[in-house]
Amino acid sequence: MDKLYLIKEGEISLKGGNRKLFEKRLRQNIKDKIRPYKSEIDRQKGRLYAYIEESAPEDIIDKALRTTSGIVGYAKAYRTEKDIEAIIRTAKEILPASSFRNEGTFRITVKREDKQFPLNSHQIAVELAKAVAEIFPALEVNLDDPDYTLFCEIRNEAYLYTDQIRCEGGLPAGTAGRGMLLLSGGIDSPVAGYMMAKRGMKCDAIYFHAYPYTSDEALEKVKTLASLIAPYTQGMRLFVVPFTDGQVHIRDNGYEEEATLMFRASMMQTAERIAKANDAVAIVTGEALSQVASQTLDAMSFTDSMTELLVIRPLVGMDKEDIIRIARRIGTYETSILPYEDCCVVFSPKHPVTRPVKEVSKRHFEELKMEGFIEDAVKNTKVYTFDSMGRELDA
Ligand code: ATP
Ligand code: MG
Repeated sequence: MDKLYLIKEGEISLKGGNRKLFEKRLRQNIKDKIRPYKSEIDRQKGRLYAYIEESAPEDIIDKALRTTSGIVGYAKAYRTEKDIEAIIRTAKEILPASSFRNEGTFRITVKREDKQFPLNSHQIAVELAKAVAEIFPALEVNLDDPDYTLFCEIRNEAYLYTDQIRCEGGLPAGTAGRGMLLLSGGIDSPVAGYMMAKRGMKCDAIYFHAYPYTSDEALEKVKTLASLIAPYTQGMRLFVVPFTDGQVHIRDNGYEEEATLMFRASMMQTAERIAKANDAVAIVTGEALSQVASQTLDAMSFTDSMTELLVIRPLVGMDKEDIIRIARRIGTYETSILPYEDCCVVFSPKHPVTRPVKEVSKRHFEELKMEGFIEDAVKNTKVYTFDSMGRELDA
C-alpha cells in the first residue's frame, strides 16, 4: 500500500483563474523532489492527497514537503471507508503510533464535507473521543488548547490524521519567473534567496570568487549554502565568477574609499550578463538598509543605476536579528558563520564612502574600464548544479 500524505495549500487556494497553473507546478515540484520514488497526487478542495510509494523514506518525504513553497502544512494520513465503524477501527489502529500520550488533553476536529454522511460532525467527534478514551484513559478533553488533536475529514472517503507539520506557505517556486541571487558566504544572501523562492521565484545564484584572496574553503562554504537553499528554489545553478583580476585592478587604480562601490558596480554588470544569458529578469541581493557602508540609500541607488535589470532586496527593511532567526530556521546560519572571509571584506576600504554622488561615482567607474575584466570573468565562469533536494549533480 502507498503512504498517504494530506497536504494543505496556502495562498494558492485563493487564486482565481490561474489556480490550476499554480497547482500543477506545486504537484510537479513535490514529485520532482520525491523521485525516484513514485507518487500520485490528487486534489480535492484546497487539499492535495499525495500517495507515495511505500519504500520512500519518511525523512525524505518530510524534507521534500517542508522545503516546497506553496504548502502550509502536511500530515501523514490514513484513508478508510466512509463508515463510522471503519473510522473508529482505523483511529484505534493509528493512535498508538501517533504523538498521543496517556497524559494531558486532546480534542477531535471533524470536517464533514460530505453532507450525506449519516452522523453529523458532533456525533462523529463523540464516537472518536470514546475511541481515544479506550486507548488513553488518562487523557482529558480540551477544545481550546489541547496537547493532541485527532482530525477526521469526511470527503469522497474518510481520512484520519493526528500530527500536522507546519510548512513554508508561499507560492510554488517556478510560478513567478527567474532571478539571479548574488550569493556570498554571509548570513543575509541565502535568506534573501529563500524569501524570493517562497514568493514563487526560480533562482540561480552567482558567487564572485577572488582566489587566492578568498580561499577554496570560502567557495566550498558558498556551495554548501547553495545546496541548502536549492530545495526552496526547486534546484539551483551556482555560477562561480573568478573576479580576482577585476578586484586587484579596482584596488590598484581606483579611489580607495570607493573600492566597495566599484566592485558592486562590477558585480551588477557581470550579473546582468549572466542573468540575460539564462533568462533571468531580476537580480536579488541580501542588502539591508544601513547594515554596512555600501548599503545606504545613496550606495544602493548607485548600484541600481549600473544595471537595467530589476534589483530586488527582500531584506531591505529587516533587522539583523530577524534575518538571523530565518537563517537558523532554514538551516543556513551555521554554515554562514564559518570564518572564511568573503572578497568584499578582503578588499574593503578603511573609510568607505557612504554617500556617493551617483554621477561622480559613475564617471569613476567608467574610468576604471572594467569591460575587459567583466568579459573575461563571464567567460571563465564555472557552473555547479544542485537538484531540488540540494544534491550536487555531476557537471
Ligand atoms: P551577506 O551576509 O549576504 O554576505 P553582507 O551583510 O555581508 O551580506 P555585503 O558583503 O555588503 O553584505 O554584501 C551585500 C550583498 O552583496 C550580499 O548580500 C550579496 O547579495 C552580495 N554579495 C556580496 N559579496 C558577494 C560575492 N562575493 N559574491 C556574490 N554576491 C556577493
Ligand atoms: Mg557579506
